[in-house]
Amino acid sequence: MNSQTMNSQSQPFPTSAIIVRGTVITMNAARDVISDGAVAVVGETIAAVGTYADVSADHPGAIIIGNADQVVTPGYINAHQHVTGDRLIHSCIPDAIDSQEAIFGWAVPVHSAHTGDDDALSASLAAVEALSNGITCTVEAGTVAHPERVAESLRQSGMRAMLGQWGWDVENAPFAAPADEVLDRQRIMLDKLPPGNGLVEAWVTLVGHDLMSDALVSGASNLARERGVGLTFHLSPHSGDAVSYLARTGRRPVMHLDDLGVLGRHVLIAHGVHLDDDEVETVLRTETAIASCPWAYLRLAQGVTVAGRHGDLFLRNGRLALGCDSENAGDMVDILRAAALFVGLERDRSMDAFSITGQHGLELATIRGAEAIGKADTIGSLEVGKQADIVVHDTRGPQWLTMSTDPVLQVVWATDGRSVHDVLVAGRHVVADGRCISVDVDSLRGAALERRDHFLASRAPMV
Ligand SMILES: [Zn+2]
Repeated sequence: MNSQTMNSQSQPFPTSAIIVRGTVITMNAARDVISDGAVAVVGETIAAVGTYADVSADHPGAIIIGNADQVVTPGYINAHQHVTGDRLIHSCIPDAIDSQEAIFGWAVPVHSAHTGDDDALSASLAAVEALSNGITCTVEAGTVAHPERVAESLRQSGMRAMLGQWGWDVENAPFAAPADEVLDRQRIMLDKLPPGNGLVEAWVTLVGHDLMSDALVSGASNLARERGVGLTFHLSPHSGDAVSYLARTGRRPVMHLDDLGVLGRHVLIAHGVHLDDDEVETVLRTETAIASCPWAYLRLAQGVTVAGRHGDLFLRNGRLALGCDSENAGDMVDILRAAALFVGLERDRSMDAFSITGQHGLELATIRGAEAIGKADTIGSLEVGKQADIVVHDTRGPQWLTMSTDPVLQVVWATDGRSVHDVLVAGRHVVADGRCISVDVDSLRGAALERRDHFLASRAPMV
């Protein structure tokens, strides 16, 4: 491949161009993998993809990241992540409780006691872990109490993110408000962080489940359509949402939301695990996207192996992405780990080794994930003109001592975020030598421990 033919002919190459070198897994339409390949980055965007010999000849004086032995992939997309809430009590919530107690006995009361400083600290910690594991784009899950502080932390980290302010219109709960007020909060964030104006942009975000009135979810969907942004909310990770929707509306959750006109390509449902056949058809027909968080379902014992329908959605070309969810649900912010689990679960469930493979897992982590969040035109693959969101895997670790002839299989099955060595987001070098360099990581540790002790000492469960 001649990289020169893919360059913008009118664009001069500054000497500050970066070349990322390694075996390049492009995830382009042809799924090209280029041995001793390279990606040239000029400013925020990818200027060339090709062999190292071609790309380096076209970019004399460029800064080189990686080497011929490394493995280069697109940045990973995490379509459902709480960056605040229970991060400061990371791995403190016990396992032997049900998900309702984990959320309402731990996560929500702890988060309701957060100050703006706590939310900012929490978001920085989440961003450091995500970036260090190669995640370059995160959709926040709808539970941010101090969105401007969180947005500032994420902006400083250099991660790409979509977020809004905590949204639910229930009674007697932290951050609750009437539907109109919740929608006004969303409008404020959309005004402050409009799409296309920096790496951190606002979406309309609701908690979801049965914690949103018809007026709120309808208004939220209309608002997202008007502003050309996404709407995300939780639904049916367990069977409880169906029970409550049937009691209130006589319809299962997805069918009721479809009746309201809420669903569509702008909607990203977190979970949608417990769906019946009609709901699966409705998700596909409306082209609604689903964020699958397999570690959450296993950790919280939510029945994905019994009732999950994500494999059906995947095989029928549904719009699917992967997520890591929250600290009570998965603990590790590592999309490669989620990709391997997703693929393994679906291979076992179907008892079909041909239907879904490691290649599909990497697609979900990159280009299919980007498509599901409406960003496939700018991120998700290494192609000229796209944003330079790039991960370099260090192959000096023990899991790489035997290099596979298929690097995609090795990335999905044989490693995870631990081999991430360098990360660029929009051309900015944010992880170098396996360490996040956009944030002073050491300065976070003492504050995190101090706030952990504070929250554990003062926790007042809601259940
Ligand atoms: Zn969640």
